[in-house]
Amino acid sequence: MRVELTLPLPTSINKLYINQFGWNPKTKTRMPTGKRIMSKDGVKVKNEIQNEAIKQLAAQDWDYEWTKTNYIYQDCYIYMNRLGRDDNNLFKLLNDSLEKIIYDNDSRVLTRTQRILIDSENPRIHLIISQTPHRGIFESEIHMNEFENKCRSCKRYKRNCSVLKKAKEGRIQEEIDGDFACSKYSEIN
Ligand code: SF4
Repeated sequence: MRVELTLPLPTSINKLYINQFGWNPKTKTRMPTGKRIMSKDGVKVKNEIQNEAIKQLAAQDWDYEWTKTNYIYQDCYIYMNRLGRDDNNLFKLLNDSLEKIIYDNDSRVLTRTQRILIDSENPRIHLIISQTPHRGIFESEIHMNEFENKCRSCKRYKRNCSVLKKAKEGRIQEEIDGDFACSKYSEIN
């Protein structure tokens, strides 16, 4: 399952935040508050990205719930407005904008730049967002199910085995070796 989105080019992180100023009644001047806030351009582009994403998503199938517990690939084809821009500076606003629309949390997003081109007339970013095949430490859902099937004959399985739970969460543990053999396995008599 995957979605494709063509979105406005995100504001660079270098222009995304500005110092907040507030009125100081003692000095009767505007003083920095010490806080950083999103720039006007950042807010505007974020709204544009979100509106476009909602509109384009409505015409496609996507499993938002799935993103709550799994990782997704975000393949990026970037059309910069000029040569020499760094793609890494775009992802903060892009991923923040798509959070709660395409995915539940951007910590689940594996962003991959596939191409950078220049289109000064129509700068944009094209995304292909897809489900990763991996499940926790396992290569695929089939691989995970095969492992769990062996667990069914283990004494710990019916006691909600914490080793299995952690493996499904992607935690590396010494109990499970590189060949996916579990040292804690104890067969039910
Ligand atoms: S101890 Fe190992 S083999 Fe047994 S249920 Fe847990 S993960 Fe599976």
